[in-house]
Amino acid sequence: MECDLCLQEGEVFRCPYCTKYFCSKHIQPETHNCEGVTLDQ
Ligand SMILES: [Zn+2]
Ligand SMILES: [Zn+2]
Repeated sequence: MECDLCLQEGEVFRCPYCTKYFCSKHIQPETHNCEGVTLDQ
């Protein structure tokens, strides 16, 4: 599969907050501007 952010093919992980798929670089909510989590805490 490919990362939903950088579109790079490879191993991806599903974000538990927005349920999209991201590579290891972008799986953290802060790195893909996650819609499913509030970051202003
Ligand atoms: Zn990526
Ligand atoms: Zn997310």
